[in-house]
Amino acid sequence: MTAAQLAKRRAKKAAWIVSAARIAQAHRETMAVLESGHCPFCGAGLHANLALTGWYQCDRFGAPGFRKDNTGAECSWQGFAR
Ligand SMILES: [Zn+2]
Repeated sequence: MTAAQLAKRRAKKAAWIVSAARIAQAHRETMAVLESGHCPFCGAGLHANLALTGWYQCDRFGAPGFRKDNTGAECSWQGFAR
């Protein structure tokens, strides 16, 4: 293996580590929100979106009539916990 190939492999591994750390941090943040039981943006409840494991959303996420909680303004909070 050449020095250039080795450098490329190391850069790829470093990028993967940074990416994995970001995902783990995002999961920790979502878990903290879920433990609080309330949306960090608007204070409404939270629910799992069953379309994808680990996907959670504010009860006011989505268009009126299609969201779990139709009170208040539409909210955009969502997170992944797994
Ligand atoms: Zn919300």
